[in-house]
Amino acid sequence: MNSRFEAVNKAFEQTPVYGVPPSDKTSDYYGCHVFNRAAMRKYLSKETRRMIYDSIDGGSLLDGSAAEYVAAGMKQWAMDLGATHYAHWFQPLTGGTAEKHDSFAEPYGNGGSIEQFSGRLLAQQEPDASSFPSGGLRNTFEARGYTAWDPSSPAFVIGDTMFIPTVFVSYTGESLDYKAPLLRSINALNKASASVLKLLGEEFGRCITYLGWEQEYFLVDRELYAQRPDLLMTERTLMGHTSSKNQQLEDHYFGTIPMRVLAFMQDLEYEAYKLGIPVKTRHNEVAPNQFELAPVYEEMNLAVDHNLMVMALMKRIAKKHGFKVLFHEKPFKGVNGSGKHCNWSIGTDTGTNMFSPGKNDSENLRFFAFVVSTLRAVHMHDGLLKASVMSASNAHRLGANEAPPAIISSFLGSQIGAALDEIGSCKIAKMPSKRGRSVGIPQIPELMMDNTDRNRTSPFAFTGNRFEFRAAGSSANCALPMIVLNTAVAEQLTELSTRSKVLMDEGMDVQNAVLTVIKEFYADCKCICFDGNGYSDEWKAEAARRGLNCETSVPLIFDEYLTESTKRMFSKMDVMTPSELEARAEIHWESYCMKLDIEARTLADLAGNHILPVAMDYQSKLAEGVAMMKGILSEADLKKASAPQMEYIMELADHIARIRKESKEMISACDLAEELPARERAIMFHDTVVPYLESIRDSVDALELIVDDRVWPLPKYREMLFVR
Ligand code: ADP
Ligand code: MG
Repeated sequence: MNSRFEAVNKAFEQTPVYGVPPSDKTSDYYGCHVFNRAAMRKYLSKETRRMIYDSIDGGSLLDGSAAEYVAAGMKQWAMDLGATHYAHWFQPLTGGTAEKHDSFAEPYGNGGSIEQFSGRLLAQQEPDASSFPSGGLRNTFEARGYTAWDPSSPAFVIGDTMFIPTVFVSYTGESLDYKAPLLRSINALNKASASVLKLLGEEFGRCITYLGWEQEYFLVDRELYAQRPDLLMTERTLMGHTSSKNQQLEDHYFGTIPMRVLAFMQDLEYEAYKLGIPVKTRHNEVAPNQFELAPVYEEMNLAVDHNLMVMALMKRIAKKHGFKVLFHEKPFKGVNGSGKHCNWSIGTDTGTNMFSPGKNDSENLRFFAFVVSTLRAVHMHDGLLKASVMSASNAHRLGANEAPPAIISSFLGSQIGAALDEIGSCKIAKMPSKRGRSVGIPQIPELMMDNTDRNRTSPFAFTGNRFEFRAAGSSANCALPMIVLNTAVAEQLTELSTRSKVLMDEGMDVQNAVLTVIKEFYADCKCICFDGNGYSDEWKAEAARRGLNCETSVPLIFDEYLTESTKRMFSKMDVMTPSELEARAEIHWESYCMKLDIEARTLADLAGNHILPVAMDYQSKLAEGVAMMKGILSEADLKKASAPQMEYIMELADHIARIRKESKEMISACDLAEELPARERAIMFHDTVVPYLESIRDSVDALELIVDDRVWPLPKYREMLFVR
């Protein structure tokens, strides 16, 4: 039997693996593998705890002796959980995570060994940085890079290892990761928010930036995955004819979760809860085999760490259940791709949410100050926000009428929009509170309606008490878009305070001063607001008229990292230096090229070694049939009887010739590109290689429909996309 059929049969027969102890309550084991406050109470003295709490909540530096005590407590706690190793865990610019494990064991005296872990080892390590992307920030001969402990994200134990979240910086102090600029951007935003709140006379201790991510993903059976070299090499199918049934019946979204998948989800949730990750929501997504996971929102730095931890867990647990999890934004053509919605808000330790419409004038003034500053930030840096989510893989999604368009705009909903327009007349608008609406069935009470409706086509939507940035890709570290958003909003909030203070110095009262600035801000950025259909062609034309960023070429979008306004914003807010930005642009171009180079070479190999031989065999078989007919049929009958075969033979010939010719041309283009500097190389990949990938695929997909199913070498969409 063809190995494809074997794999399909195996996948079909898989029974769910259940791994979760059914009797335990979640609260019995929640956070049991995290060095959280409960663990600290057990393993640290009161004095040490006070110092580390100050460091976590107030951002103060932990002194050397306190770090010693923390290290000793942590080591004991981890060893009690069976850990033998520790690892500094960091987020290099590859987009994934990195870890280097060291044993607690140290040789001691005459052949003995003891477990050791010091404050110095906790606080700082020096992994060899030369093999991580640095975008020119560090030459290989100056390979030093340091990881430094981030006390605001707690250590955790997985298997035999204690993981310590860290930032990763170069010898000269420039960040080589996502966490360091994320922490700086959170600080900038919290500081700027606090300055506005103080101006408004609010009572609070400190501000907190929140993130609630929603992670979409695909699952495919591992046996079938192993039969697809394109998935193995690139995480996406570079060929494959769409299945006649995919998502058009809309029967998958929120449908019953298949048993095998549910078992995976339960196992995943169990492991996530042990790590204190508050996963909450699970459901089927729009495309077949596509699912979503969302936790309760958390402080942003922790939320980003938790997202990366969950992604790592998913990979591991999927394997146990005979699945491969795909985080690629577009693994299958013709069905929806995956994103990572980022729900973003700012709050205080006293429980105020800046994006909750208020009950009185002063609360509404605060609400509009934050909403309008956010809109102005998005307007001023719409191109940069797009750059922060753009990648070779996410480019398949954005602008493809299934995900947000490649133009950043903001949806506010009719009520907030109307209230903002009213502000134009310099009054604090009354915010309608949630209103009741009867559903018309006497037994069912009134439903409370939110003060915003929904618009799925908007990249940056206000959703009642937060903004939801929907353009981030499912495979990416969502720190990057959050760094840009936090910093851009911090810049506007700072400006709002400064301008208001000037007006107050001129004698205006605080309410009128802030209101005046809100009005000016809104006039500046009103054109970023759009509540209509973001997929329509009219919007594309209208957005261009409004001067919004409409660029769709990925390499050109990355130019946004280097504009004057980007550099000025990041420097002013102390988040990234111009050289850190230059490094990031370089890394983005490089990574774009590498991904496309791998895709091109994989497609050329697959087409040449898997598809063409099968297509040519089939063509020969058809030709043999025609030759055999020759012996037994008259000239007239032969023409009639062999017509379908002849048609197939010629169609095969066309596609075979096209695949062969274009594969060669595509590889030559990749080779030529190698000579160019990163930006020009990326442009060449975008302009030349991408069209080849599409055109070769068209021919292969046409062949899939012609060639005998019994000899087709790769699992088809209809076989991969429906987990039973
Ligand atoms: P939907 O799919 O309808 O957009 P979900 O319920 O799947 O919504 O996800 C909403 C996400 O938003 C969750 O992670 C939730 O915790 C988060 N969230 C809710 N309120 C806030 C808030 N104030 N700030 C940040 N995130 C929030
Ligand atoms: Mg959402």
